[in-house]
Amino acid sequence: MTKKISTANGEAQAAQTDAYVRISTHAQERWTERTSAQESLRAAWERSIRVRAPSASATEVRLYAPCEALLIYRQGALRTVLNNDGRIDCTALGACTACENLIDPVQDATCRWCGAETETHGRGRASVVRGDKA
Ligand SMILES: [Zn+2]
Repeated sequence: MTKKISTANGEAQAAQTDAYVRISTHAQERWTERTSAQESLRAAWERSIRVRAPSASATEVRLYAPCEALLIYRQGALRTVLNNDGRIDCTALGACTACENLIDPVQDATCRWCGAETETHGRGRASVVRGDKA
């Protein structure tokens, strides 16, 4: 069941790209329960897209698109993991044409989930393709 990943599941290792993020036991349990992700919650947090979730009481919310999971950060720690039930504001996001997961067209020159080059080429540019035509 275990895939080779650089961070041990749930362990506080290799948090190099982000400041150290505390993970509550509750969040860890919800992550295991609600997602089928192979990577640790910490690694997922580092990869996930910052999103706006006006209705969530959180300091920061990130979307782990492959599992449609919302990572809820509040008061200095990752508190829980929710299923994305549409409460987030996706208007600034776009969908990767290769894997169809949501990406941030401003920051992602390549898809953060599958590595494909994104069509918007938004990095450092003012032009951003907004919204998705459902
Ligand atoms: Zn992709």
